[in-house]
Amino acid sequence: MNYHHRIDGAEVDLPVGKVVCVGRNYAAHARELNNPVPSEPVLFIKPNTSIVRLADPVAIPSHLGQCHFEAEMSILIAEELKAGCDEQQAQQAIAGVGLALDLTLRDLQQQLKDKSLPWEKAKAFDGACPVSDFVSVNRAGDLQDQQIQMYQNQQLRQDGNSADMLTPVLPLLVYISQFFTLLPGDMLLTGTPAGVGPLAIGDQLQLSLSDLIQCQTQICAAI
Ligand code: ZN
Repeated sequence: MNYHHRIDGAEVDLPVGKVVCVGRNYAAHARELNNPVPSEPVLFIKPNTSIVRLADPVAIPSHLGQCHFEAEMSILIAEELKAGCDEQQAQQAIAGVGLALDLTLRDLQQQLKDKSLPWEKAKAFDGACPVSDFVSVNRAGDLQDQQIQMYQNQQLRQDGNSADMLTPVLPLLVYISQFFTLLPGDMLLTGTPAGVGPLAIGDQLQLSLSDLIQCQTQICAAI
């Protein structure tokens, strides 16, 4: 794997683990895909084989139907969180905050949902989780007041604030830990605001998290 976690510009000594993701954590996004607003978090996992650097060209498997962008705030975990942990322990376990794309093969996901089958092939494929470098949690300020923006070819597509999460980061980590132990080097993707849409080969993307992170990338075809 050609990826290592970086915080504030320096490589950190943490393994690259799983990525626990939450679906429909912003009501406006749930509605745009005609999904009900869930009463508790919808969780899924991307394996570490899905992680690539967002700064590198992002390869999408365009032969598998539409691939949607979902720009999300990411959280890097540096201490184990297991069932029974509390929000204070969750807070202490957070090392960094970043940006990620939860790439989603939307046509395939719809086919799987229609058959009541799991989403993995649509969400967990190789390269499905491009991630930025992290900023340290101390520099980031309030996790529930971060502006998430994504431009596609200079057009603003997503513009949300983490204040609108249905389940904020700390209760989300506590909830997740009841099902999946979080290990040092694991990541959390906190859900996408509204405005998702399909990617095309050659697209230029610019993403930002408040004034903490600005990054750009381009979309290319998977080999
Ligand atoms: Zn997502």
